[in-house]
Amino acid sequence: MTNSTHWTLAERAAKMNPSVIREILKVTEKPGIISFAGGLPSSKTFPVAEFEAACAKVLKDDPAGALQYAASEGYGPLRELVAAQLKAQSAAAGVTWNVDPAQVLITTGSQQGLDLVAKILIDKDSKVLVESPTYLGAVMAFTPMEPNVVSVASDAEGIDIADLAAKSADARFLYVLPNFQNPTGRSMTEARRAALSAEAARSGLPIMEDNPYGDLWFDQAPPAPLTARNPEGGIYLGSFSKVLAPGLRMGFIVAPKAVYPKLLQAKQAADLHSPGFNQRLIFEVMQNGFLDRHVPTIRSLYKAQRDAMLEALAKHFPESKGPDSANADSTFTWNTPAGGMFLWARLPAGMNAVDLLPHAVDKGVAFVPGAPFYAGNADARAMRLSFVTPSVEEIHRGVAALAEAIHAQRS
Ligand code: PMP
Repeated sequence: MTNSTHWTLAERAAKMNPSVIREILKVTEKPGIISFAGGLPSSKTFPVAEFEAACAKVLKDDPAGALQYAASEGYGPLRELVAAQLKAQSAAAGVTWNVDPAQVLITTGSQQGLDLVAKILIDKDSKVLVESPTYLGAVMAFTPMEPNVVSVASDAEGIDIADLAAKSADARFLYVLPNFQNPTGRSMTEARRAALSAEAARSGLPIMEDNPYGDLWFDQAPPAPLTARNPEGGIYLGSFSKVLAPGLRMGFIVAPKAVYPKLLQAKQAADLHSPGFNQRLIFEVMQNGFLDRHVPTIRSLYKAQRDAMLEALAKHFPESKGPDSANADSTFTWNTPAGGMFLWARLPAGMNAVDLLPHAVDKGVAFVPGAPFYAGNADARAMRLSFVTPSVEEIHRGVAALAEAIHAQRS
């Protein structure tokens, strides 16, 4: 018998696309390839023993609580811990942010936060502003709501305020990553944050601040979050993926009263609540200041990895004088991120990172071309290099292979 079932896909399904980056990663996951392409934290940083102990403790102390359905808002003690931590971090950065645990919503990764915010704030054709470039996963989360995603010009210090002012009328929100941005690794300066906050206050533009990398600074903690400066004007997204482990899929939203109840309803509809067991694990591991001891070890590992990549780049591209130099069009250039996991590099004029990728893979190294991260006017010369997963030795070999591929394509 033949199947006569007619599947009719929703119009929004047609707008969904496979993650371009995941597709690229498939090509680059050949054995022996040194990958600067992945966006994964280093598995060396996962606190396995602490999680093992926490599993036993959680199951012993409160098995019913850990394994039963639970509140959609999240596990109370974890929400309190999150609020206290944000409060302390902002105070250290000189801004008072009295985060109320009642405004914290625990999510299944911050990726779910992006999805929930999209559901409650975006109608078909709503204008949504993003940095240029921006996190592709956010655009993917927004796309099913059929927004008009508009890129705001951005430079090494962050978003261009004049361009923002010109584009902000009627926008539902600006999605912004002030710290060690994915994909560029850049951070917004204090001056730019202050200007952005002032402009958002002037125009009434809501800000959606995504901060999964803020704790991974190398020399100096970043300035206070944008949301801390105007908590009623921002939604803040945080994540445990980069400081503990992404496999637990744990993140959180801090939302103002104007939107929290709707976010909670969206959360209920999406998955009732985030896994209670994982929330208790995170709480167990985090309480008593574990992150204060653990996160510095991630910072020093990633800083050493970044330094290795900078050293290898300087060695293999000695003619390069930096992205703002007079010869930037004739050389390979890169930035120097002050934290996070990524470095942003740029090919000489006339070259294209998508075209280069298969040649680089032939030489044994992979990266992610920058173009998919742009909502408009892509920079075809840009590429994202992750420095956290390969070893220092692999970083040196990988950069050597990248240099070979670039020089071979130019000659
Ligand atoms: N936002 C940004 C900018 C990211 O880079 C990522 C992870 N790649 C996420 C959100 C999602 O992180 P998670 O769901 O693991 O918290």
